Amino acid sequence: MGGPVKRSVAEHQRAVLAALEPLPARDVPLGGAGGAVLAADVHSRTPIPLFDNSAMDGYAVRRADLIGAGPDQPVTLPVIADLPAGTSERPDVGPGTVARIMTGAPMPPGADAVVPVEDTDAGTTTVTITAEPAEAAHIRRAGDDLAPGEVVLRAGTRLTARHLAAAAGAGHGTLTVHPRPRVAVISTGTELVEPGSTPAWGQIPDSNSYLLAQSVTEAGGTPVRIGAVPDDEAEFARLLAEVSPDVDAIVLSGGVSVGAFDVVKAVLAPLPSMWFGPLAMQPGKPQGFGRLADGTVVFALPGNPVSVYVSFEVFVRPGLRRLAGDADPRPVLVDGVAEVGWRSPPGREQYMPIVMDDGAGGPVRVRPSARRGSGSHLVGGLAGADGLARVAADVDEVRAGDTVAVLRGAS
Ligand code: AMP
Ligand code: MG
Repeated sequence: MGGPVKRSVAEHQRAVLAALEPLPARDVPLGGAGGAVLAADVHSRTPIPLFDNSAMDGYAVRRADLIGAGPDQPVTLPVIADLPAGTSERPDVGPGTVARIMTGAPMPPGADAVVPVEDTDAGTTTVTITAEPAEAAHIRRAGDDLAPGEVVLRAGTRLTARHLAAAAGAGHGTLTVHPRPRVAVISTGTELVEPGSTPAWGQIPDSNSYLLAQSVTEAGGTPVRIGAVPDDEAEFARLLAEVSPDVDAIVLSGGVSVGAFDVVKAVLAPLPSMWFGPLAMQPGKPQGFGRLADGTVVFALPGNPVSVYVSFEVFVRPGLRRLAGDADPRPVLVDGVAEVGWRSPPGREQYMPIVMDDGAGGPVRVRPSARRGSGSHLVGGLAGADGLARVAADVDEVRAGDTVAVLRGAS
Protein backbone atom coordinates (compact mmCIF):
# COMPACT_ATOMS: atom_id res chain seq x y z
CA MET A 1 0.00 0.00 0.00
CA GLY A 2 3.00 2.35 0.48
CA GLY A 3 3.64 4.89 3.28
CA PRO A 4 4.82 4.12 6.82
CA VAL A 5 3.25 1.13 8.58
CA LYS A 6 0.82 2.45 11.13
CA ARG A 7 -0.37 0.60 14.18
CA SER A 8 -4.01 -0.43 13.86
CA VAL A 9 -6.62 0.62 16.39
CA ALA A 10 -7.06 -2.98 17.52
CA GLU A 11 -3.29 -3.41 17.99
CA HIS A 12 -3.05 -0.25 20.06
CA GLN A 13 -6.06 -1.19 22.16
CA ARG A 14 -4.47 -4.58 22.83
CA ALA A 15 -1.13 -2.96 23.68
CA VAL A 16 -2.80 -0.60 26.16
CA LEU A 17 -4.76 -3.37 27.88
CA ALA A 18 -1.76 -5.71 27.96
CA ALA A 19 0.29 -3.06 29.73
CA LEU A 20 -2.23 -2.52 32.52
CA GLU A 21 -3.51 -4.56 35.42
CA PRO A 22 -6.03 -3.92 38.18
CA LEU A 23 -4.84 -1.62 40.96
CA PRO A 24 -3.98 -3.58 44.13
CA ALA A 25 -7.08 -4.40 46.16
CA ARG A 26 -7.77 -2.67 49.43
CA ASP A 27 -10.46 -2.58 52.09
CA VAL A 28 -12.76 0.41 51.86
CA PRO A 29 -15.79 1.35 53.95
CA LEU A 30 -19.12 0.52 52.36
CA GLY A 31 -19.88 4.22 51.91
CA GLY A 32 -16.87 4.66 49.65
CA ALA A 33 -17.18 1.43 47.68
CA GLY A 34 -19.91 2.37 45.18
CA GLY A 35 -18.67 2.14 41.58
CA ALA A 36 -15.57 0.10 42.52
CA VAL A 37 -15.01 -3.50 41.39
CA LEU A 38 -15.03 -6.23 44.04
CA ALA A 39 -11.69 -8.01 44.33
CA ALA A 40 -13.00 -11.08 46.18
CA ASP A 41 -16.26 -12.94 46.70
CA VAL A 42 -18.33 -11.68 49.63
CA HIS A 43 -19.95 -14.27 51.89
CA SER A 44 -22.78 -13.69 54.30
CA ARG A 45 -21.52 -13.46 57.87
CA THR A 46 -24.91 -14.46 59.30
CA PRO A 47 -28.19 -15.92 58.24
CA ILE A 48 -30.46 -13.40 56.51
CA PRO A 49 -32.87 -12.75 58.17
CA LEU A 50 -30.79 -13.00 61.33
CA PHE A 51 -33.65 -14.44 63.43
CA ASP A 52 -37.28 -15.55 63.03
CA ASN A 53 -39.34 -12.37 63.05
CA SER A 54 -42.78 -11.04 62.37
CA ALA A 55 -43.76 -9.95 58.85
CA MET A 56 -46.78 -8.02 60.16
CA ASP A 57 -47.90 -5.70 62.92
CA GLY A 58 -50.16 -7.91 65.03
CA TYR A 59 -50.01 -10.64 67.69
CA ALA A 60 -47.62 -13.56 68.20
CA VAL A 61 -49.85 -16.50 69.08
CA ARG A 62 -50.01 -20.22 69.59
CA ARG A 63 -52.02 -21.42 66.64
CA ALA A 64 -53.59 -24.25 68.68
CA ASP A 65 -55.39 -21.59 70.78
CA LEU A 66 -57.17 -20.22 67.70
CA ILE A 67 -58.41 -23.27 65.80
CA GLY A 68 -61.89 -22.40 64.57
CA ALA A 69 -61.62 -18.67 65.40
CA GLY A 70 -63.64 -16.42 63.07
CA PRO A 71 -65.98 -13.42 62.99
CA ASP A 72 -68.72 -15.61 64.47
CA GLN A 73 -66.37 -17.25 66.93
CA PRO A 74 -64.07 -14.57 68.38
CA VAL A 75 -61.39 -15.69 70.83
CA THR A 76 -60.20 -13.33 73.58
CA LEU A 77 -56.76 -13.88 75.13
CA PRO A 78 -54.47 -11.95 77.54
CA VAL A 79 -51.60 -9.92 76.06
CA ILE A 80 -48.47 -10.71 78.10
CA ALA A 81 -45.89 -8.53 76.32
CA ASP A 82 -45.41 -5.75 73.80
CA LEU A 83 -42.62 -6.41 71.25
CA PRO A 84 -41.48 -3.55 69.00
CA ALA A 85 -38.75 -4.03 66.35
CA GLY A 86 -35.41 -3.86 68.15
CA THR A 87 -36.70 -5.34 71.42
CA SER A 88 -34.30 -7.54 73.36
CA GLU A 89 -37.18 -9.13 75.31
CA ARG A 90 -37.88 -12.83 74.83
CA PRO A 91 -41.07 -13.48 76.81
CA ASP A 92 -42.45 -17.03 76.94
CA VAL A 93 -45.79 -17.13 75.19
CA GLY A 94 -47.51 -19.91 77.16
CA PRO A 95 -50.73 -21.68 76.17
CA GLY A 96 -53.70 -19.32 76.15
CA THR A 97 -51.61 -16.12 75.93
CA VAL A 98 -50.35 -13.83 73.14
CA ALA A 99 -47.76 -11.04 72.73
CA ARG A 100 -48.36 -7.89 70.73
CA ILE A 101 -45.65 -7.75 68.04
CA MET A 102 -44.52 -5.27 65.38
CA THR A 103 -42.97 -5.97 61.96
CA GLY A 104 -39.34 -7.04 62.33
CA ALA A 105 -39.51 -7.91 66.04
CA PRO A 106 -38.10 -11.35 66.95
CA MET A 107 -40.68 -14.10 67.43
CA PRO A 108 -41.00 -14.88 71.15
CA PRO A 109 -40.50 -18.49 72.33
CA GLY A 110 -43.72 -20.51 72.33
CA ALA A 111 -45.49 -18.50 69.61
CA ASP A 112 -45.81 -20.24 66.22
CA ALA A 113 -47.87 -17.80 64.11
CA VAL A 114 -48.71 -14.13 63.77
CA VAL A 115 -52.25 -12.74 63.54
CA PRO A 116 -52.32 -9.37 61.72
CA VAL A 117 -53.79 -6.50 63.75
CA GLU A 118 -56.52 -6.20 61.08
CA ASP A 119 -57.96 -9.53 62.30
CA THR A 120 -58.27 -8.29 65.92
CA ASP A 121 -59.73 -5.50 68.05
CA ALA A 122 -56.14 -4.20 68.59
CA GLY A 123 -56.39 -4.65 72.38
CA THR A 124 -53.39 -4.10 74.62
CA THR A 125 -54.28 -5.95 77.83
CA THR A 126 -56.54 -8.52 76.23
CA VAL A 127 -57.13 -8.96 72.51
CA THR A 128 -60.11 -10.39 70.63
CA ILE A 129 -59.10 -12.34 67.55
CA THR A 130 -61.53 -13.10 64.72
CA ALA A 131 -59.45 -15.29 62.37
CA GLU A 132 -57.65 -18.61 62.50
CA PRO A 133 -54.02 -18.20 61.45
CA ALA A 134 -52.49 -20.57 58.91
CA GLU A 135 -49.52 -22.62 60.06
CA ALA A 136 -46.48 -20.39 60.69
CA ALA A 137 -48.48 -17.45 59.31
CA HIS A 138 -46.55 -14.20 58.77
CA ILE A 139 -43.25 -15.45 60.19
CA ARG A 140 -40.05 -14.57 58.29
CA ARG A 141 -37.67 -17.43 58.96
CA ALA A 142 -33.99 -16.96 59.84
CA GLY A 143 -31.83 -17.83 56.82
CA ASP A 144 -34.76 -17.78 54.34
CA ASP A 145 -32.80 -15.40 52.15
CA LEU A 146 -29.21 -16.58 52.72
CA ALA A 147 -27.48 -19.06 54.99
CA PRO A 148 -24.25 -18.04 56.76
CA GLY A 149 -21.27 -18.45 54.43
CA GLU A 150 -23.31 -18.25 51.23
CA VAL A 151 -21.93 -16.02 48.46
CA VAL A 152 -23.71 -12.67 48.35
CA LEU A 153 -21.53 -10.94 45.76
CA ARG A 154 -19.04 -12.29 43.25
CA ALA A 155 -15.54 -10.94 42.66
CA GLY A 156 -15.59 -8.74 39.57
CA THR A 157 -18.93 -7.10 40.37
CA ARG A 158 -19.01 -3.36 39.81
CA LEU A 159 -20.76 -2.20 42.95
CA THR A 160 -24.10 -0.46 42.61
CA ALA A 161 -26.64 0.58 45.21
CA ARG A 162 -28.23 -2.90 45.25
CA HIS A 163 -24.88 -4.59 45.88
CA LEU A 164 -24.08 -2.26 48.78
CA ALA A 165 -27.45 -3.05 50.38
CA ALA A 166 -26.85 -6.81 50.09
CA ALA A 167 -23.33 -6.47 51.55
CA ALA A 168 -24.65 -4.41 54.46
CA GLY A 169 -27.41 -6.94 55.13
CA ALA A 170 -24.82 -9.70 55.10
CA GLY A 171 -22.92 -7.99 57.92
CA HIS A 172 -20.10 -6.24 56.05
CA GLY A 173 -18.98 -2.70 56.92
CA THR A 174 -16.02 -2.76 54.54
CA LEU A 175 -15.41 -4.43 51.18
CA THR A 176 -12.23 -5.48 49.41
CA VAL A 177 -12.18 -3.65 46.10
CA HIS A 178 -9.87 -2.47 43.37
CA PRO A 179 -9.78 1.25 44.08
CA ARG A 180 -11.03 3.71 41.50
CA PRO A 181 -8.01 5.04 39.61
CA ARG A 182 -6.89 8.57 40.38
CA VAL A 183 -6.27 10.27 37.07
CA ALA A 184 -4.60 13.63 36.42
CA VAL A 185 -5.76 15.54 33.36
CA ILE A 186 -3.39 18.03 31.75
CA SER A 187 -3.93 20.06 28.58
CA THR A 188 -0.90 21.35 26.72
CA GLY A 189 -0.88 24.41 24.50
CA THR A 190 0.28 28.00 24.82
CA GLU A 191 -2.94 29.03 23.09
CA LEU A 192 -5.20 27.71 25.86
CA VAL A 193 -7.11 29.84 28.38
CA GLU A 194 -9.60 28.93 31.09
CA PRO A 195 -13.11 28.71 29.65
CA GLY A 196 -15.17 31.79 30.44
CA SER A 197 -12.27 34.22 30.30
CA THR A 198 -11.94 36.35 27.17
CA PRO A 199 -9.34 34.87 24.79
CA ALA A 200 -6.78 37.29 23.36
CA TRP A 201 -6.07 37.05 19.61
CA GLY A 202 -4.84 33.53 18.86
CA GLN A 203 -6.05 32.04 22.12
CA ILE A 204 -8.87 29.47 22.57
CA PRO A 205 -10.68 27.96 25.56
CA ASP A 206 -9.27 24.73 26.99
CA SER A 207 -12.13 22.33 26.34
CA ASN A 208 -10.14 19.10 26.53
CA SER A 209 -9.42 19.12 30.25
CA TYR A 210 -13.14 19.40 30.97
CA LEU A 211 -14.05 16.71 28.49
CA LEU A 212 -11.42 14.42 29.97
CA ALA A 213 -12.07 15.10 33.65
CA GLN A 214 -15.78 14.39 33.25
CA SER A 215 -15.03 11.33 31.10
CA VAL A 216 -12.74 10.02 33.85
CA THR A 217 -15.56 10.42 36.36
CA GLU A 218 -18.00 8.65 34.05
CA ALA A 219 -15.50 5.84 33.57
CA GLY A 220 -15.36 5.27 37.32
CA GLY A 221 -12.10 7.12 38.03
CA THR A 222 -11.33 10.10 40.23
CA PRO A 223 -10.11 13.01 38.10
CA VAL A 224 -7.55 15.57 39.18
CA ARG A 225 -8.00 18.33 36.63
CA ILE A 226 -4.78 20.29 36.43
CA GLY A 227 -5.83 22.45 33.47
CA ALA A 228 -3.59 23.84 30.76
CA VAL A 229 0.20 24.27 30.62
CA PRO A 230 2.03 26.23 27.94
CA ASP A 231 4.25 24.50 25.37
CA ASP A 232 7.36 24.86 27.50
CA GLU A 233 9.39 21.70 27.96
CA ALA A 234 10.91 22.58 31.32
CA GLU A 235 7.61 23.68 32.80
CA PHE A 236 5.79 20.62 31.45
CA ALA A 237 8.45 18.24 32.80
CA ARG A 238 8.32 19.94 36.21
CA LEU A 239 4.54 19.60 36.33
CA LEU A 240 4.63 15.89 35.45
CA ALA A 241 7.14 15.25 38.24
CA GLU A 242 4.97 17.16 40.69
CA VAL A 243 1.70 15.45 39.75
CA SER A 244 2.73 11.85 39.12
CA PRO A 245 3.34 10.69 42.72
CA ASP A 246 -0.25 11.55 43.49
CA VAL A 247 -2.03 9.62 40.73
CA ASP A 248 -2.26 6.25 39.01
CA ALA A 249 -2.51 7.69 35.52
CA ILE A 250 -2.13 10.96 33.62
CA VAL A 251 -4.14 11.85 30.54
CA LEU A 252 -2.50 14.49 28.36
CA SER A 253 -3.86 16.22 25.30
CA GLY A 254 -2.04 18.10 22.55
CA GLY A 255 1.62 18.23 21.63
CA VAL A 256 1.99 14.69 20.27
CA SER A 257 2.29 15.29 16.55
CA VAL A 258 5.13 16.63 14.44
CA GLY A 259 4.74 20.38 15.03
CA ALA A 260 7.67 22.52 16.09
CA PHE A 261 6.35 22.96 19.66
CA ASP A 262 5.02 19.50 20.40
CA VAL A 263 6.03 19.50 24.02
CA VAL A 264 4.59 16.14 25.09
CA LYS A 265 6.48 14.25 22.43
CA ALA A 266 9.67 16.25 23.05
CA VAL A 267 9.67 15.47 26.77
CA LEU A 268 8.30 11.92 26.81
CA ALA A 269 9.42 10.27 23.55
CA PRO A 270 12.99 9.79 24.86
CA LEU A 271 11.66 7.55 27.67
CA PRO A 272 12.03 3.87 26.73
CA SER A 273 8.80 3.14 28.63
CA MET A 274 6.77 5.36 26.24
CA TRP A 275 5.44 4.49 22.79
CA PHE A 276 4.64 7.18 20.24
CA GLY A 277 3.41 6.64 16.75
CA PRO A 278 0.77 7.16 14.17
CA LEU A 279 -2.33 4.99 14.29
CA ALA A 280 -4.32 3.96 11.25
CA MET A 281 -7.22 5.91 12.68
CA GLN A 282 -9.31 8.99 11.93
CA PRO A 283 -9.46 11.11 13.99
CA GLY A 284 -6.79 10.31 16.58
CA LYS A 285 -3.81 9.49 14.40
CA PRO A 286 -0.95 10.73 16.60
CA GLN A 287 -0.92 8.97 19.97
CA GLY A 288 1.42 8.14 22.80
CA PHE A 289 1.09 5.62 25.58
CA GLY A 290 3.31 4.16 28.28
CA ARG A 291 4.68 4.93 31.71
CA LEU A 292 6.80 7.57 33.37
CA ALA A 293 10.00 6.42 35.07
CA ASP A 294 8.06 6.10 38.37
CA GLY A 295 5.50 3.76 36.76
CA THR A 296 2.67 6.27 36.39
CA VAL A 297 0.56 5.35 33.35
CA VAL A 298 0.45 8.03 30.63
CA PHE A 299 -2.06 8.43 27.83
CA ALA A 300 -0.83 11.13 25.42
CA LEU A 301 -3.72 12.10 23.16
CA PRO A 302 -3.78 14.48 20.22
CA GLY A 303 -5.11 18.00 20.78
CA ASN A 304 -8.22 18.34 18.67
CA PRO A 305 -11.31 17.93 20.85
CA VAL A 306 -13.04 15.34 18.65
CA SER A 307 -9.80 13.32 18.56
CA VAL A 308 -9.69 13.53 22.35
CA TYR A 309 -13.27 12.28 22.67
CA VAL A 310 -12.63 9.40 20.29
CA SER A 311 -9.28 8.50 21.87
CA PHE A 312 -10.84 8.47 25.32
CA GLU A 313 -13.64 6.13 24.28
CA VAL A 314 -11.42 3.77 22.32
CA PHE A 315 -8.26 3.62 24.48
CA VAL A 316 -8.47 5.54 27.75
CA ARG A 317 -11.83 4.33 29.04
CA PRO A 318 -10.92 0.66 28.49
CA GLY A 319 -7.52 1.29 30.09
CA LEU A 320 -9.02 2.96 33.16
CA ARG A 321 -11.60 0.18 33.47
CA ARG A 322 -8.74 -2.34 33.44
CA LEU A 323 -7.01 -0.42 36.26
CA ALA A 324 -10.35 -0.40 38.07
CA GLY A 325 -10.55 -4.19 37.86
CA ASP A 326 -12.97 -4.87 34.99
CA ALA A 327 -12.30 -8.31 33.54
CA ASP A 328 -13.23 -7.30 29.98
CA PRO A 329 -13.16 -3.55 29.54
CA ARG A 330 -13.24 -3.43 25.74
CA PRO A 331 -15.90 -1.15 24.27
CA VAL A 332 -19.20 -2.80 23.42
CA LEU A 333 -20.34 -2.16 19.85
CA VAL A 334 -23.80 -2.68 18.43
CA ASP A 335 -25.01 -2.69 14.83
CA GLY A 336 -26.55 0.49 13.45
CA VAL A 337 -27.87 1.50 10.06
CA ALA A 338 -26.58 4.67 8.34
CA GLU A 339 -29.42 7.07 7.47
CA VAL A 340 -27.14 9.07 5.17
CA GLY A 341 -23.79 8.37 3.57
CA TRP A 342 -20.38 9.85 4.33
CA ARG A 343 -16.76 9.51 3.22
CA SER A 344 -14.09 7.70 5.21
CA PRO A 345 -10.33 7.97 4.61
CA PRO A 346 -8.89 4.86 2.99
CA GLY A 347 -6.47 2.90 5.16
CA ARG A 348 -7.70 4.39 8.43
CA GLU A 349 -10.37 3.13 10.82
CA GLN A 350 -12.82 5.98 11.18
CA TYR A 351 -14.75 6.98 14.29
CA MET A 352 -17.54 9.33 13.26
CA PRO A 353 -19.47 11.22 15.96
CA ILE A 354 -23.09 10.35 15.35
CA VAL A 355 -26.64 11.07 16.38
CA MET A 356 -28.50 7.86 17.19
CA ASP A 357 -32.20 7.16 16.83
CA ASP A 358 -33.25 4.03 18.68
CA GLY A 359 -35.68 2.77 16.04
CA ALA A 360 -38.75 1.43 17.82
CA GLY A 361 -37.98 -2.29 17.79
CA GLY A 362 -35.87 -1.93 14.63
CA PRO A 363 -32.12 -1.30 14.35
CA VAL A 364 -30.50 1.87 15.69
CA ARG A 365 -30.36 4.54 12.96
CA VAL A 366 -27.33 6.84 12.87
CA ARG A 367 -26.11 9.96 11.06
CA PRO A 368 -23.07 12.22 11.56
CA SER A 369 -23.69 14.79 14.29
CA ALA A 370 -21.54 17.63 12.92
CA ARG A 371 -23.15 19.89 10.36
CA ARG A 372 -19.92 20.24 8.41
CA GLY A 373 -18.46 16.77 8.18
CA SER A 374 -15.94 15.06 10.35
CA GLY A 375 -13.37 17.78 11.20
CA SER A 376 -11.69 16.88 14.47
CA HIS A 377 -11.67 20.52 15.61
CA LEU A 378 -15.49 20.75 15.56
CA VAL A 379 -15.98 20.84 19.31
CA GLY A 380 -19.45 22.40 19.06
CA GLY A 381 -20.79 19.40 17.13
CA LEU A 382 -19.64 17.07 19.91
CA ALA A 383 -22.52 18.22 22.07
CA GLY A 384 -24.96 16.58 19.66
CA ALA A 385 -23.11 13.27 19.47
CA ASP A 386 -24.70 10.24 21.13
CA GLY A 387 -21.82 7.99 20.19
CA LEU A 388 -19.42 6.97 17.47
CA ALA A 389 -19.80 4.96 14.28
CA ARG A 390 -16.79 2.78 13.51
CA VAL A 391 -15.94 2.39 9.83
CA ALA A 392 -13.39 -0.26 8.93
CA ALA A 393 -10.02 0.84 7.50
CA ASP A 394 -10.69 -0.73 4.09
CA VAL A 395 -14.00 1.12 3.59
CA ASP A 396 -13.78 4.56 1.97
CA GLU A 397 -17.45 5.35 1.78
CA VAL A 398 -20.46 4.62 3.94
CA ARG A 399 -23.69 4.56 1.93
CA ALA A 400 -27.17 5.22 3.25
CA GLY A 401 -28.56 1.88 4.39
CA ASP A 402 -25.14 0.37 5.20
CA THR A 403 -24.67 -1.36 8.53
CA VAL A 404 -22.02 0.26 10.75
CA ALA A 405 -20.67 -0.67 14.18
CA VAL A 406 -21.81 1.80 16.82
CA LEU A 407 -20.11 2.67 20.11
CA ARG A 408 -22.67 4.27 22.36
CA GLY A 409 -21.34 7.21 24.41
CA ALA A 410 -22.03 7.66 28.11
CA SER A 411 -25.34 9.43 28.70
P1 AMP B 1 -1.85 19.90 18.94
O1 AMP B 1 -2.07 18.43 18.97
O2 AMP B 1 -1.21 20.41 20.20
O3 AMP B 1 -1.14 20.32 17.71
O4 AMP B 1 -3.29 20.54 18.86
C1 AMP B 1 -4.11 20.30 17.75
C2 AMP B 1 -5.26 21.28 17.75
O5 AMP B 1 -6.06 21.10 18.90
C3 AMP B 1 -4.85 22.73 17.77
O6 AMP B 1 -5.75 23.46 16.94
C4 AMP B 1 -5.02 23.12 19.20
O7 AMP B 1 -5.24 24.51 19.40
C5 AMP B 1 -6.22 22.31 19.60
N1 AMP B 1 -6.19 22.03 21.04
C6 AMP B 1 -5.16 21.51 21.72
N2 AMP B 1 -5.44 21.39 23.02
C7 AMP B 1 -6.70 21.85 23.16
C8 AMP B 1 -7.56 21.98 24.31
N3 AMP B 1 -7.17 21.62 25.52
N4 AMP B 1 -8.79 22.48 24.10
C9 AMP B 1 -9.19 22.83 22.85
N5 AMP B 1 -8.43 22.72 21.75
C10 AMP B 1 -7.18 22.26 21.89
MG1 MG C 1 -0.46 22.05 20.83
